[in-house]
Amino acid sequence: MLKIALIGCTGSIGRGVVDVVRRNRDLFSFSALACGNDEEGLRALEGEFAPKISYCAKNGAPMPEDLFADCDVAFIAAGGFIGLSYTLAALRAKKRVALANKESLVVGGQLVTREAEAAGAEIVPVDSEHSAIFQALGMRREGKFSRLVLTASGGPFLHMEKEKLARVTAKETLRHPTWKMGAKVTVDSATLLNKGYEIIEAKWLYGAQFGQIEAVVHPESIVHSIVCFEDGAAIAQLGYPDMRVPIQLALTYPERFPCAPQLDFERLGALHFLPLPRDKFPCFGLAVEAGRRGGTCPAVLNGAAEVAVQAFLAGSITFPQIAETIEDALCRIPRAEAESYAALAEADALARRAAATHIYGK
Ligand code: MG
Repeated sequence: MLKIALIGCTGSIGRGVVDVVRRNRDLFSFSALACGNDEEGLRALEGEFAPKISYCAKNGAPMPEDLFADCDVAFIAAGGFIGLSYTLAALRAKKRVALANKESLVVGGQLVTREAEAAGAEIVPVDSEHSAIFQALGMRREGKFSRLVLTASGGPFLHMEKEKLARVTAKETLRHPTWKMGAKVTVDSATLLNKGYEIIEAKWLYGAQFGQIEAVVHPESIVHSIVCFEDGAAIAQLGYPDMRVPIQLALTYPERFPCAPQLDFERLGALHFLPLPRDKFPCFGLAVEAGRRGGTCPAVLNGAAEVAVQAFLAGSITFPQIAETIEDALCRIPRAEAESYAALAEADALARRAAATHIYGK
């Protein structure tokens, strides 16, 4: 029986984890359940799974010291910069981390990698693209690949003219064509910021150079990513878009258990691969550039993005102004070294302030 400490249990990925556990009670149990705000959701899960620890971070309640003490796997499914503190705490407790929080590696890649090495703790990717690469490498995070190719659905505005993007609404943006996800990551998928994040994550997860990592639009979301080798061979992982597969595999690997429908190749139809429209979606380039510059730049990128996306969802700024807000923060805030959590938290706070000033003028 694998004991899981699930952080972010009421969010989109968290609910996927709960679903996997519910259907495999002979394999999994929860030692701890934690959420950000949804106390009611947490209480319902508590009643169902009776974890040893349940924790709601609402109103600044401090993280219980023994949050990860009794688990075999820490599943970090909380969204946003806040997830980094949980990832670091789990690694310091020497636990295997199933990582669905993007910001941990985007913002804190250097720190997280160092802590994982020091603790001898393993990080297993949950994001569909990074899980695909993990699987194509034979369920390892190393291999002699020449390139990693991340696939992107392209989001709901792939074919929209650039001029029309200023008029798209939050509601249209939240209508993702293939994946069902939380609001922040759905907007990030539409701006392609999310794909830029995934390039940075791939660098840290697979020790790749930025020049070795590419992104390509694949509207059907059947091929989840591709690993290319120097002899010209390429290995891809395919499946219907269903997050339960990478969620379950992060818990059970190297073993596989039944989870999602089998691909029906006779009815699958054509699969397409197209260049990423970088000009139309500047967030992608901003993210990759921040990743290349390193230090606290990705923390600034992310802090500004979290504020900008909230403002867009609230109707305070337009879709193209998300990128403008991020770019403004990246220009204003000087790069510093990302040596400590404190340095990252400071860059995050500066970025949030710069973004709020850019948007609201105060
Ligand atoms: Mg993804």
